[in-house]
Amino acid sequence: MLLITGGAGYIGSHTVLNLIENNYNILIFDNLENGHIETVDTLLGLGNVKFVKGDLRNLKDIDNLFSSYNIQGVIHFAAFALVEESVKNPGKYYINNIYGTINLLDTMIRHDVKRIVFSSTCATYGEPLYTPIDEKHIQNPINPYGYSKLAVEHIMDDYDKAYELKSIRLRYFNVAGSDEKGRIGEWHEPETHLIPNIIKSAINESKTFNIFGADYDTKDGTCVRDYVNVLDLAEAHRLAYEYLLRENKTDVFNLGTGNGHSVKEVFDTCEKVLNQKIPVEIRERRAGDPAKLYADITKAKTILKWEPKRTLEESIKTNYLWESSSKQEEFINV
Ligand code: UDP
Repeated sequence: MLLITGGAGYIGSHTVLNLIENNYNILIFDNLENGHIETVDTLLGLGNVKFVKGDLRNLKDIDNLFSSYNIQGVIHFAAFALVEESVKNPGKYYINNIYGTINLLDTMIRHDVKRIVFSSTCATYGEPLYTPIDEKHIQNPINPYGYSKLAVEHIMDDYDKAYELKSIRLRYFNVAGSDEKGRIGEWHEPETHLIPNIIKSAINESKTFNIFGADYDTKDGTCVRDYVNVLDLAEAHRLAYEYLLRENKTDVFNLGTGNGHSVKEVFDTCEKVLNQKIPVEIRERRAGDPAKLYADITKAKTILKWEPKRTLEESIKTNYLWESSSKQEEFINV
């Protein structure tokens, strides 16, 4: 079976959905600190899925897991992923994201499991020297989150040299959207991300949406990002895992759409798609936000044969479906 660490989280759970639809046997491992048990319950009802609650920082938890199940490969999502929090509490990020991953890799080696797909990030590039950013761009992170992911990339190279552990590192840009049937969705607590925050202000008009900075050196002064749909991203994970099975080669791929949208453009698109005015104010810049990040995805297209298909409008619609389904409210109030 295929182990999905962090399978109760946003990107992990949508990848599980994709893998279920492609007849994989899935084992989800999650400490539920950021993931949701309700998401796991939904996934358990959809296919051949098992769930074990545990923590990568606890070697015993992982060792038991590998002793109890016949694991053939790993897709490793479990991590803390908020830039601002990582600046305030770096130890949390280094211990969980690096030490936790070392525990996972050592356990894999002990149990002779040698294939892993890893969630890396465009935050490993830091302030871009050029755009679009390709995989050869220098990696020079500007926050502990980015450093923790870059460290793991290096560790994986070392484990390849030492033990022939093969890894595919997927460097995500911005991710958006939710399951098209509204069964699972983008669900962070607290929510800090752009599209969910705009939608929350659309649903609850007393909650003004804040644009963090309109004085950047970009087309309209707001930050430019590359928003890839989570279902397209999930598909890339499956293709990456199958590439690893086929080629048994360590490699790295950017995942985005190749197009940049400014915060203002995303906001305007939300107003258009939802056909309503949304309360908005311009605020100070948020710490640590580079002006412009978007990906060159030629490599993933060529080698993984991956093609992002869904539009920004579709991501907004499915996020709205999820937000307005009141599922999160119901769960929170239980
Ligand atoms: N952003 C914003 N208001 C919000 C949330 C985000 O203006 O309520 C901006 C943020 O400053 C950044 C972009 O939207 O330029 C994307 O932010 P997000 O947190 O979604 O993703 P990140 O780029 O930090 O991974």
